[in-house]
Amino acid sequence: SVPLSFFGGIGGASRLGILVKGSNYLEALGSTETVVFDKTGTLTDGTFAVTELACAPGVTEAELVATAAAAEAFSTHPIAQSVRVYGDAMANGERSGGDAMANGQRPATNVAPLAERVRDVREVSGQGVEAVVDGRGVLVGNGKLMAAHGVPFQATDAAGTVLYVAADGAFLGTIVIADTIKPTAARAIADLHAAGVKKTVMLTGDRTDVAASVAARLGIDEVHAELLPQDKVAEVEKLLAATERDTRGKGKLAFVGDGINDAPVLTRADIGIAMGAMGSDAAIEAADIVLMNDNPDDIAKAIDVARRTMRIVW
Ligand code: ADP
Ligand code: MG
Repeated sequence: SVPLSFFGGIGGASRLGILVKGSNYLEALGSTETVVFDKTGTLTDGTFAVTELACAPGVTEAELVATAAAAEAFSTHPIAQSVRVYGDAMANGERSGGDAMANGQRPATNVAPLAERVRDVREVSGQGVEAVVDGRGVLVGNGKLMAAHGVPFQATDAAGTVLYVAADGAFLGTIVIADTIKPTAARAIADLHAAGVKKTVMLTGDRTDVAASVAARLGIDEVHAELLPQDKVAEVEKLLAATERDTRGKGKLAFVGDGINDAPVLTRADIGIAMGAMGSDAAIEAADIVLMNDNPDDIAKAIDVARRTMRIVW
């Protein structure tokens, strides 16, 4: 039978906004040695702001952004949301950004609803979106997506996440967006190390240089970038094999994600931890522990609750 104080532990955690789906997960968390993080939406806000636009010859900024925003119309990815927000602001004349608008022109606004203009949307995990917009085959995503379609593109080393946009095989330009690190992320990593976690790791589909700079600023031990969702599973498998584990449940590996493109990893880890507010239903379903406040520092708090609870039991 389950000792009553375990329920106390779960109850105590839930009062902190940490939902634990079973006492075994709380116990496992108390002896976690490796904590693996997803980057976007987990350690960073996942709300990107457009910082830079670069157009191919003959393409206006208004066309570049409107095309990308239409293709992203139905995506739930945080990147898509930021492109839409920027596109709406540009269309409403809130941003001077458009060179057409600088001349007093409005962008050619197509009056048909997006549901009619945008067809055959396909979201490619870890790469971007493909969609037919106004009859043109539009791609919005990273270099991998462009390469997969044989689109010649002008690679950029801008600081941030770079989205390449193409229509009917022609490169339209780049949209650079920057994400911000959550204010509590550095403390979260420091608190985990202080709590005896031996290794912190970040896995991301984003570019190596962006990933390395975030990891360095947060004090994360190990970073793997440019990963597709299946690559994240493979990395977690390797880390599971490398982590010392014994029959008493020591040496557990926890994975923390927002569930966007990482539900399979949440399932594979010993302890899957999902962000509750930003996370998807799939993440909350796949996770063993849900952080309702999306605060990465709540993991160290949960470890603390777990250890206090076990001290009472033993
Ligand atoms: P992370 O691993 O950091 O959480 P994702 O796996 O969700 O990131 O995405 C990895 C990369 O794939 C992004 O940095 C972006 O380049 C590209 N990408 C994914 N979804 C989209 C989208 N809807 N629109 C444009 N690019 C996308
Ligand atoms: Mg993510």
